Amino acid sequence: MIKKIEHLGIAVKNIETANAVYAKLLGVASYKSENVESENVITSFFKVGESKIELLEGTSADSPIARFIDKKGEGLHHIAFEVEDIEKEMENLKKQGFTLLSDKPKRGADNKLICFVHPKSASGVLIELCQEIKK
Ligand code: ZN
Repeated sequence: MIKKIEHLGIAVKNIETANAVYAKLLGVASYKSENVESENVITSFFKVGESKIELLEGTSADSPIARFIDKKGEGLHHIAFEVEDIEKEMENLKKQGFTLLSDKPKRGADNKLICFVHPKSASGVLIELCQEIKK
């Protein structure tokens, strides 16, 4: 079951510049910044009501974020849905013909298990499923 839009991911060239822009826009400062080495990305999070904005800057030229910006420029990168049980949801989407970008959930930023759904199978939008890791 999909619970809500957990966050929107925005690809940016420079996280410091974008942090300043979004702090001004939203009237709050970023509450967390995290380096996800497995994805070659620096992330920064803002709270917006029940959802979040995640800014992403690639840390190497071949990172997925840097490649996205090369192709499309800065902008909306993905929509993340919070799910109750990520393995169940992955199984369910696979059965319905969606292409998942990994066979198993991966550890993402913000204490989450994540899995991406290929944009080709979701009307051109990269979809992230995420489930909070219970402590
Ligand atoms: Zn995300």
